[in-house]
Amino acid sequence: MLNFTYKNQTEILFGKGQVAAISQRIPTSARILMLYGGGSIKSNGVYQQVQQALSQHQVWEFGGVEPNPSYETLMQAVALGREQHIDFILAVGGGSAIDGAKFIAAALHFSGDPWDILIAKAKFTQVIPIGAVLTLPATGSESNGNSVVTKKATAQKRSFSSTLVQPQFAVLDPEFTYSLPKRQISNGIVDAFVHVMEQYLTYPVHAEIQDRFAESILQTLLDVGPKALKQPENYQHRANLMWAASMALNGLIGAGVPQDWSTHMIGHELTALYGLDHAQTLAIVLPALMFVQRHQKHAKLVQLGRRVFAIHDQNEDVVIDQTIKAVQDFFETVGVKTRLSDYQLDGQVVQNVVNNLERNGMTALGERNDIDLKKAAAILRLAL
Ligand code: NAP
Ligand code: FE
Repeated sequence: MLNFTYKNQTEILFGKGQVAAISQRIPTSARILMLYGGGSIKSNGVYQQVQQALSQHQVWEFGGVEPNPSYETLMQAVALGREQHIDFILAVGGGSAIDGAKFIAAALHFSGDPWDILIAKAKFTQVIPIGAVLTLPATGSESNGNSVVTKKATAQKRSFSSTLVQPQFAVLDPEFTYSLPKRQISNGIVDAFVHVMEQYLTYPVHAEIQDRFAESILQTLLDVGPKALKQPENYQHRANLMWAASMALNGLIGAGVPQDWSTHMIGHELTALYGLDHAQTLAIVLPALMFVQRHQKHAKLVQLGRRVFAIHDQNEDVVIDQTIKAVQDFFETVGVKTRLSDYQLDGQVVQNVVNNLERNGMTALGERNDIDLKKAAAILRLAL
């Protein structure tokens, strides 16, 4: 096992009715910015419940954070925050609202150009606290320090990570997910599944606990994902999906193990250039990446096949082939297509994505930094 430091500072408020508890989590003297997306929270009643919980607080609203939140929109919220001397942000929504809140929290008192936080790892010290009310189980953003922001003007999707911007608390009420369209539940299942894979499918370091936890999250997603899709108002299915997605990226399974975020990095370019949903890009890239990296990832691919998919062929190459197919089939079964051509994209994509990876310095990805531009191109060609 590798050395690690582990702490998760987010207080999880899980279950029906927990949103009421936020009134005690935020000081009544706070000047709160309530950040949300395109309005789903108004039609499903979440907005009204948050308003009720904050009836004794001062709240300014900023709606309109788009999926794959844009730098341009978030800077408008930064301007409002500066004008109104905001000192707390409550994000209500999915990964986009929560990631957006993290960027605003870092940018608000930043004296330089806030874009440098995303492209130049610029240090920020003064942040304002964040809370989250999650409405979409997928990203784990509610209890991690990661934020992904897109500059529309230059088609760049970039991320930063800091425990300074990790939410202090997160409300996870499974009932808040009942109104999600099928496509977003499908996306959430795939995103969470891939988060686990990127912390699991690397070279073995005898991290038995991390491996077994990771496998149990994968097994839970395989089991509960399709059920949560079929029965939108089954509380237990939604509860298990919500907790699985959160556990997938809250730091626990990633402590003390090598990590390979190349599926996300290549996927981000597909979203930046072609507007695909985040999870659609992951469903395209991961199976092809597993194939191209099958020798480097041999031991873990076999372990995944045997333990998670119960594939017991004696021949390890057969196990690997069947495992890659099983992952791809799972994504398709939950309704996320796995080929570039399924999204009307052709061979031209390969060079465009490679050019963007190069521009963003993504030229040595993977747990061994061995996914160079040539390999990235091979992965994309295989996914055509
Ligand atoms: P999202 O972009 O936050 O939301 C997607 C859509 O779902 C929006 O149109 C939203 O509508 C709708 N929606 C959300 N909750 C709903 C509900 N309860 N009922 C009905 N509609 C609802 O989706 P996401 O997948 O959670 O976040 C994706 C972003 O997170 C991407 O930018 C991705 O790169 C990033 N990400 C972050 C991390 C991390 O660790 N921080 C990890 C992976 C990905 P409204 O806008 O109307 O609310
Ligand atoms: Fe993701």
